[in-house]
Amino acid sequence: MDLRASDEALDWPALRERVAACTACALHATRTQTVFGVGSERARLMIVGEAPGAEEDRQGEPFVGRAGQLLNAMLRAIGLERGDVYIANVLKCRPPGNRNPSLEEAVACEGFLRRQIALIAPALILSVGGIAARNLLGTDTPVGKLRGTVHHVGADRVPCVVTYHPAYLLRQPEEKAKAWQDLQLVAGLLRESSALHSRGQST
Ligand code: SF4
Repeated sequence: MDLRASDEALDWPALRERVAACTACALHATRTQTVFGVGSERARLMIVGEAPGAEEDRQGEPFVGRAGQLLNAMLRAIGLERGDVYIANVLKCRPPGNRNPSLEEAVACEGFLRRQIALIAPALILSVGGIAARNLLGTDTPVGKLRGTVHHVGADRVPCVVTYHPAYLLRQPEEKAKAWQDLQLVAGLLRESSALHSRGQST
């Protein structure tokens, strides 16, 4: 997926403004507000989910409510706080009734996420849920088959690990052990990238 040419050079304030005013797909008509993203703009780990739900639409922040609390707990399990990472969704507006985003909506919105990734330049992306994986990696392969290996996103080939969406884990708690394995993979990759970074700085 490519950036829209018009989004390529935007800085954070301009990107925020562009998203807040966006009417590029029909979801603008039913949103309470756009849900841009939250966290550290210098994060080494970026979490990418699907789209805002009802609570996110109300609060203007991604991953709040029960799924957000579980995500926070998952992050804490590998020694990270919510403020250490950056959290964003493929779509910045809520699909009515929490239906899956359509292809047209995802295409209309993808430039914003791409620009967020470019501005943050994370060491690693954790893609949560099938919709995020489909849009980041351009595949319909189920999460269960994508997890456990390192994929790469975009022209910059940002490493990416795929895991289950916390909302799915709330419905299927027996899958939490697999998510825990995925988090261990994330923690290991972050450690490796830190070690490489430190070695690079000391030479
Ligand atoms: S979902 Fe994305 S493309 Fe559609 S109106 Fe919202 S910000 Fe614009």
